[in-house]
Amino acid sequence: MSPTVEQGTLYVISAPSGAGKTSLVAAMLGNDNKLGVSISHTTRPMREGEQDGVNYHFVSRDEFEAMIARGEFLEHADVFGNYYGTSHIWVRETLAGGQDVILEIDWQGAEQVRRLMPECVSIFIVPPSAATLRERLTGRGTDAPDVVERRLGEAREECQHALEFDFLVVNDDFDVALADLLAIVRSQRVRIGVQQDRHSELLTQLSQ
Ligand code: 5GP
Repeated sequence: MSPTVEQGTLYVISAPSGAGKTSLVAAMLGNDNKLGVSISHTTRPMREGEQDGVNYHFVSRDEFEAMIARGEFLEHADVFGNYYGTSHIWVRETLAGGQDVILEIDWQGAEQVRRLMPECVSIFIVPPSAATLRERLTGRGTDAPDVVERRLGEAREECQHALEFDFLVVNDDFDVALADLLAIVRSQRVRIGVQQDRHSELLTQLSQ
């Protein structure tokens, strides 16, 4: 009989733009080889430095809508004018293989995933202050003031949903925020529900 593989844990991570979510998730992956990140599909144009199949799967609106019609998404949302979605096959197969999966998605996607997979662990990341957020959003220096204002408005909207998440991580010091995120992951791996299966023999021995 083949041994049963423990199901991985699904992490949903959301944040306003400028919170440092993508860098933190990349650092999490570098620190923990049991973690994988789902590559979303999007209809937004590719930005400089991005690669198809690495940052996102970039598709047309027609392709995206066809994927919706075929029921290929675990969740999908219109985020400020572009479609974004998580294809469910990779997520379910990876979890079934025992690997943990991170979804970097917006609050609307998080809401859908929580409903479908209530055992998921959701984390919201925020910058330490509104001033820092503004600085980080203008810091890129490449965008017109109205674009920055729009981004700030979008960030505020995202932050209005922070309390719907299980954990809140403040990204003031990057290393501290990363340690918090890794601590959340480690804590899930020693939950009693997980440990009682993994160590059932030990627990039996110790209590006889
Ligand atoms: P960006 O275009 O800056 O990469 O991402 C914009 C927003 O879309 C971010 O809040 C990001 O988390 C969210 N996002 C990225 N992928 C997905 C996805 O698959 N589903 C949902 N619902 N949101 C996503």
